[in-house]
Amino acid sequence: MITDLLAKLDFTRDAPPPVGVSACLVGDAVRYDGDHKFQTAVAELEEWLELRRYCPEVGIGLPVPRPAIEIRNIDGEERVRGVDEPDRDFTHALHDYAREVTTVDGYIFKARSPSCGWDTAPVFDETGAQASTSSGLFNQGVQARFPGIPFCDEEMLQSEAGRTDFVLRVYCHQALRRNPDAADALRHQSKSLAPRYQDAMEEQIASMAARQ
Ligand code: SF4
Repeated sequence: MITDLLAKLDFTRDAPPPVGVSACLVGDAVRYDGDHKFQTAVAELEEWLELRRYCPEVGIGLPVPRPAIEIRNIDGEERVRGVDEPDRDFTHALHDYAREVTTVDGYIFKARSPSCGWDTAPVFDETGAQASTSSGLFNQGVQARFPGIPFCDEEMLQSEAGRTDFVLRVYCHQALRRNPDAADALRHQSKSLAPRYQDAMEEQIASMAARQ
């Protein structure tokens, strides 16, 4: 289905769009417990995308395995601290590690991680109770560095429709990054798609136009 849709839009796969991915989702054993979180639904996207792996916690020098970290709300500010070592603060290091990410047309994040999660990372209050959810600190850094790129997490990619939406948006982002005047042509080509996919492309075009 994805291949057919890309062909309808005249998107070629000669130079697949680069997309950042949380390294544990494609099988790198980099988690705090020494394991990975391989997801077939993510790895299969390599047929259409160039997946670039990043593990921000390893990137800032933490070992594997390592003590767990979490987001705490401290005096109204989100801080990433060690669960058992609350005086160790990783907030700025994780946020700034986003500078290591080279040009990408999308990003696939690991849900619920205090570093990578997108709106799903638990935030704890000073009593240790979960108070809310937020985005991980590395995720926040990537959002600031690449405004308007398509984001998702592995949970949004479990359905074929979710994977198709994401890949279309990524190709759309790549086309507009290369030629910002291509929006009308993309809209015209998208008319041959089902309404759901037209909407995904329109959302991507509008999100990039809002940032010009
Ligand atoms: S920091 Fe991100 S990439 Fe590294 S193990 Fe945690 S969720 Fe995976």
